[in-house]
Amino acid sequence: MNTQVTSNSPSLFSEHLAEKLDVLYHGNGKTRWYQWDISKLDNSLIGTVLWKLTHSISIIRNNLFDCDYEQGKKLLSHCQVNTNNNSHLEQIFQNASKHWDALSFNSPNSFKCASEEPQKTYLSDYKAPAYLIPDTQLTIDIQDGFTDVSAEYTIKPNTDKAEPLVLDGKEIFLLGITLNGRSLAPFEYSVDGDQLIILNVPSDQEFKLCISSRTYPEKNKSLSGLYQSRGIYCTQCESEGFRRIAYSLDRPDVISRYRCTIIADEKKCPVLLSNGNEIARSKIDGGRHSVSFEDPFPKPSYLFAIIAGNLASKEDHFTTKSGRKVTLRAFVEQGNENQVQFALNSLKEAMKWDEEKYGREYDLDILNMVGINDFNAGAMENKGLLVFNSGRFLADPNLTTDSSIEGVQQVVGHEYFHNWTGNRVTCRDWFQLCLKEGLTKFRDQEFFSDHNSRDVKRINDVNYLRNIQFIEDAGGNAHPIQPDSYVNISNFYTATVYRKGAEIYRMLQKILGVEGFRRGTDQYFDQFDGKSATLEDFISCMELANTKVDLSQFRNWVHQAGTPQVEVTMDFEQEKEELKLHVKQSCRPTKETKDKKPFLIPLSVAFFSKEGEQMELKDSHGLPVRESTLIVKEAEETFVFTNVKSKPIPSLLRSFSAPVNLHYEYSIDELAVLLAHDSDGFNRYDSGQRMAQQILAQWMEDTNHKEACENLDHILSAFEQVLENSSLENSYKAVTLSLPTVASITENTKNFDFSKAYEQKNRLIRAFAEKCESTLLEQYESLHASSKGKDISAESRGKRSLKNVLLGYLASFTDDRYQNLIEKQFFEAENMSDRYSALSLLCRRESEAKDKALKSYQEAFKNSPEAMELWFSAQSTSPRLNVLDDLKKLEKNPAFDQTNPNKARSLYFAFAANLACFHSKTGDGYAWIADKIIEIDRFNSHLAARLSTVFKKYPQLNEEQKQLMKQHLDRVLNTEGLSETVYEIIANTIKES
Ligand SMILES: [Zn+2]
Repeated sequence: MNTQVTSNSPSLFSEHLAEKLDVLYHGNGKTRWYQWDISKLDNSLIGTVLWKLTHSISIIRNNLFDCDYEQGKKLLSHCQVNTNNNSHLEQIFQNASKHWDALSFNSPNSFKCASEEPQKTYLSDYKAPAYLIPDTQLTIDIQDGFTDVSAEYTIKPNTDKAEPLVLDGKEIFLLGITLNGRSLAPFEYSVDGDQLIILNVPSDQEFKLCISSRTYPEKNKSLSGLYQSRGIYCTQCESEGFRRIAYSLDRPDVISRYRCTIIADEKKCPVLLSNGNEIARSKIDGGRHSVSFEDPFPKPSYLFAIIAGNLASKEDHFTTKSGRKVTLRAFVEQGNENQVQFALNSLKEAMKWDEEKYGREYDLDILNMVGINDFNAGAMENKGLLVFNSGRFLADPNLTTDSSIEGVQQVVGHEYFHNWTGNRVTCRDWFQLCLKEGLTKFRDQEFFSDHNSRDVKRINDVNYLRNIQFIEDAGGNAHPIQPDSYVNISNFYTATVYRKGAEIYRMLQKILGVEGFRRGTDQYFDQFDGKSATLEDFISCMELANTKVDLSQFRNWVHQAGTPQVEVTMDFEQEKEELKLHVKQSCRPTKETKDKKPFLIPLSVAFFSKEGEQMELKDSHGLPVRESTLIVKEAEETFVFTNVKSKPIPSLLRSFSAPVNLHYEYSIDELAVLLAHDSDGFNRYDSGQRMAQQILAQWMEDTNHKEACENLDHILSAFEQVLENSSLENSYKAVTLSLPTVASITENTKNFDFSKAYEQKNRLIRAFAEKCESTLLEQYESLHASSKGKDISAESRGKRSLKNVLLGYLASFTDDRYQNLIEKQFFEAENMSDRYSALSLLCRRESEAKDKALKSYQEAFKNSPEAMELWFSAQSTSPRLNVLDDLKKLEKNPAFDQTNPNKARSLYFAFAANLACFHSKTGDGYAWIADKIIEIDRFNSHLAARLSTVFKKYPQLNEEQKQLMKQHLDRVLNTEGLSETVYEIIANTIKES
């Protein structure tokens, strides 16, 4: 059939009106439409309204059903007057008229407004698809202002019964359908909400279905489906974005072989990319060109992608272990091509690592990567065409910090590893999200650890888990790594699925050993290559490959939410030289399981003498152990060790061997021994944190706490030893000398006075600075001299991270005696890490230097979006009391753009993480963020839902603060036309479980 629709944008579609309507249209403004009084509209507005409405008949159904039949007719006749000269519009409205007729047979009351009662999807309702699509051919024709898509599917019935074919589609306008070459008449199909239903299709043989539709990438601010980012057309299909490009069976268990042709203006879009190998290229009249691609590997629709734009690129190569030469290309906006070599190097490291560690080789001759500035997530693993948020792709020491550069290595690794864990073996349904995300997260963590400091990586990952995932597990949005229901799947890309998920795979590896785990993954890849799988499939493969292991109890981690609390006590009998370790586990009830079954917990332990020697004990079989992993299975269990010569200091949960909260009553002396001598890098660090936590908890209780004041010097001396220990890596010293975050102080003390926690932390920082002033200064200067350049090797990054922690201590003196040093570091900085660290310190208080620094930075970096994001976040994380007033002004800065997720993160998310200011007693912080959620939800519900999670501490706040927060959360919930994604997060937050 003819798939080319050549009409121009309708002339009456004036930009001004279009913008107004877009807010309603993209903001899922169903309730708003419901109340629209059409009798007050003038002719041209009605034309525009209807033109927009008819993109999806569902919108008419859901939103104008209170118009009576006659009114509807009138509406359409108005439009016809206005469309006399436009045959395309004529066609649209005639089509709409027919549907309007069809509508009168339905009872209006059968349609609900979305925000009233969101529908849930249940795992238990899973049914295999009624139809499969073995083959997909897409033609994507990019025009100015709209894009026409023709999707030609080969469809195969998958059941014996004759069933209507139900396809997904969202905010796209249907142009026509043919079935086996015959055009379907309107009565042969219907559009119901976000579904296209074709009533009669062959139930016993393959058939060809061709659907043409239109989409509007330039207007799409949801950043899902096809959209434009700084002039570049790009797609994001996971999890349900493909349905915004074409009507389809948009679910991961429908796996299809794709061919795709992209047509676009050659000048505006010289680069056209899609998954797989390029198979044809041609020029078309009118300065246009077309490129076709074929992906030999069948894939679900969420892995489909295209890119079209004027991009610069850099090329590299990798030869796989079997000798396949792969071309690697990195595409970015013109002018940024000198910032991609680090990403290319990281990709080559990742390709090699996966061959060595998992025996997995890359499978195409080409691998493209693209950096895009407007991106909801960090990156996307589309088959053969990885798309990155430019903040996770570009690496230039002058524009990006060391931690973003490290982020590039990790995210490039992550997306690459998905080629096997996610792409070659995909998820059966979205409840299995952790199968690809938790596993791939675990793989990227290990990849990064193999190329950088393993201890520092583990510390950072555990801190993330404790500060973000544990809080999620403690609130109303707690869910197992495999949830049993969801309202909107985009809300389940959570810390639980990714981070706790990674811990589940880590525990499996701990229990089975590295080799046993590898046998299991080999089994999994052999059995499921080219198919979709479940979490249960993965665990079964582990059992199959390790015949002696029974993982039945381990599965409780998959189905139960909440962070287990593990209490350990110890009995030592000198005469018997016997040690008893009592372990007790519990977990609070959560909505999916009231009465928790015990978890299977691998608890790694070692023991130290009070002199710091690691002891060799004997286990219950009389075998010698220096370190052992106890497998805890019961709610209460005791482990016995013998050959214990003196009372040991236990080092528990080594390397954080399970995602639990471990309680053991350590004395400050015991912690000091572990901080100085523990052979486990994580526990050594954690002993320091526990010491600091102890004193901070006492100060939170009483700022003159007697015991705390007595212990202070002892604690400071233990930290001083770390500072002076030249055998420790610089990056390790940097994290070990960083004191607990305000979030963890409040969490651990259950006292959610964030300002107080901030003050007490500063008090401890100052005390340490006073005690070690000269060493801090001396070390700062020596590190600075050797790390101030642009070298981004792990060694230089380590030096910079320690140096900037030390500068933070020096900045704590109330008389500002090191103000000059900070200013000097800022104004003479040769790299962004030094510049940003100094700028953040300057932003802590009002000063002329601060204003001068901000001004000169803005002048120098106004053209770099990545650098300007840092400029915003240095200001939004400032603890100054009046910071909110400044941020409100910053929103009007020309470099700020609310529709760009990176900018929103640098201002709104960064402010919400500035706990003392966000939770201010005036409630202004809550009010502002609530306003932003409402504003952003109108065009990007995904981003708005993410922002909604910053209220997660609600259940833990005191009554007064809770009331303040609730008032704004209620306001968000009562917003007309609120998306179901935001609704789900906020309603769960308030619910408290
Ligand atoms: Zn991922």
